Amino acid sequence: MINKQNFNLTIQNILKDRREKAKQVAEDNLNLALKNEKLKQSFYKVRGLQVDLSKFDNGSAEAKQILAEIEKERVILREELANCGLTKEDLKPQYSCKLCNDTGFVDKKKCSCFKAEQNTLYLNECGINKNSLPSFDKVDYQVFGSYKDDVKKIYTLTQSFVTKENGTKTNLVLYGQTGVGKTYLTECALNEALDSDLYTVYTTAFKLNEVFINYHIAKLDEKQYILSPYLTSDLLIIDDLGSENILMNVTIEYLYLLLDTRSRNGLKTIITTNLTPGKIQDTYEDRVFSRIFNKQIGLQITMPGEDLRFKK
Ligand SMILES: [Zn+2]
Repeated sequence: MINKQNFNLTIQNILKDRREKAKQVAEDNLNLALKNEKLKQSFYKVRGLQVDLSKFDNGSAEAKQILAEIEKERVILREELANCGLTKEDLKPQYSCKLCNDTGFVDKKKCSCFKAEQNTLYLNECGINKNSLPSFDKVDYQVFGSYKDDVKKIYTLTQSFVTKENGTKTNLVLYGQTGVGKTYLTECALNEALDSDLYTVYTTAFKLNEVFINYHIAKLDEKQYILSPYLTSDLLIIDDLGSENILMNVTIEYLYLLLDTRSRNGLKTIITTNLTPGKIQDTYEDRVFSRIFNKQIGLQITMPGEDLRFKK
């Protein structure tokens, strides 16, 4: 079970570790450098001069003189550092993410490195190995025979749905019979999203239904963490809608909550199904149907293959 609270804590700890390691390396380098007597003298002289500098106004004759002295010492420092095999940069913490200095946030928004960690944890939890996922640039369209041109268009459209801003379009519904490659396509989409550092959650409708049951029976204070990844991920992929049992007061209620919240927040959702729109309307009621097939917020695509022409 994905627990967003644990994920966030784990990631914050990973990032904290990285920051501390970077600081430690810088400190170790400094201690190493200070074993050089000439460098040590120069280093503390600069520190003293900086204290002196703070006593004078910017631009005053005294300040200018001190700055000149600091500059002289810095030349010595650089030379001696080079003798130790170090540069000025080695004395500063070298964070692995230059965007957020390993804090995980840029302007109060999650940094791409934070999202990448979320995805790593999530994939581990789901047992998905990113390296075994198919990718858009390696699809062999020949296997789709006479449908290959249509299929290629659908793959291109799906790829751009994942990576581009789509205005008001937040939903992509792919429907077609079993065996036409819907899952394969969503796995390409997952791979693409991961490469784009989007926080992505991939689930089957069957597993999602289990999450809904857990949510339904959870204590109030635990509830928010259960649905969070599904409500807040940049991209949610639900494979094989219709493969799950419809549970009273659970499946339809929470599916609606999910789709409605996501589209209102401009978050993307990809759904695959082999149910025709008419069957979806019968099974999931009008409100879910309207969230899935609303042309303003969604794109609907028929995956070509034998016996699966959907008549509008
Ligand atoms: Zn970052």
